[in-house]
Amino acid sequence: MDYHRFLADRPRSYLGRGSPDRRRLALTFDDGPGRATPALLSALAELEVAATFFCVGEAARAQPALIERILRDGHEIGNHSLSHADARGFGVEDWIASEIHPAATALREAGVAEAPRLFRPAYGEIAPGQVDALAGLGYTVVGWSVDPRDWLEPQAPGYVSCVVESVLARIHPGAIVLLHDGDDEHGHARHGIVEIVRRLVPALRGQGYGFARVGEFLPAEAARSRTSG
Ligand SMILES: [Zn+2]
Repeated sequence: MDYHRFLADRPRSYLGRGSPDRRRLALTFDDGPGRATPALLSALAELEVAATFFCVGEAARAQPALIERILRDGHEIGNHSLSHADARGFGVEDWIASEIHPAATALREAGVAEAPRLFRPAYGEIAPGQVDALAGLGYTVVGWSVDPRDWLEPQAPGYVSCVVESVLARIHPGAIVLLHDGDDEHGHARHGIVEIVRRLVPALRGQGYGFARVGEFLPAEAARSRTSG
């Protein structure tokens, strides 16, 4: 099937980028909270950037104080499944029951007041029936338009520069940038994200970009912010 067309036909159930008519972008951080998250939050606070965190339910359960801090600092939290399971291994109802609802519960118990309305699938993989089921639950599935592959070889020399330059080469108005703050699948902390953000944010501001949370890119909110000026 034509997956892109399938998603393009569902403007409220899928968001892959924001409007191109304003020079702003959304930084998104996946898989946390993890050991790099506190230093990342400090950097974002110093830089005065609000971002979106797609948190894993199990990680939220393990670190509820970090969920509270993410919210207190003015960021937005989305659902990134309970265990970072690949959705392709599940039927729709089984997946909702075992990965979506429990993650939402874990986030709520960690302090997220409203039910998360944003969902990002682990590995970016999701079946059409799963997108429709999430839409029925009030979720928008969030993709990305800039992927600097920050998960690839974080120990390699020049890693930070490579990720920063990759974002700067691909950035565009309305970009949703995929980054990671959670520990990787081997349990390694992703400390490099802090330096990446410290270098990326001033460079993007130098190009005239402002920063939004993904929710501000949703069609209804965009209309609201236009009418409110
Ligand atoms: Zn992930």
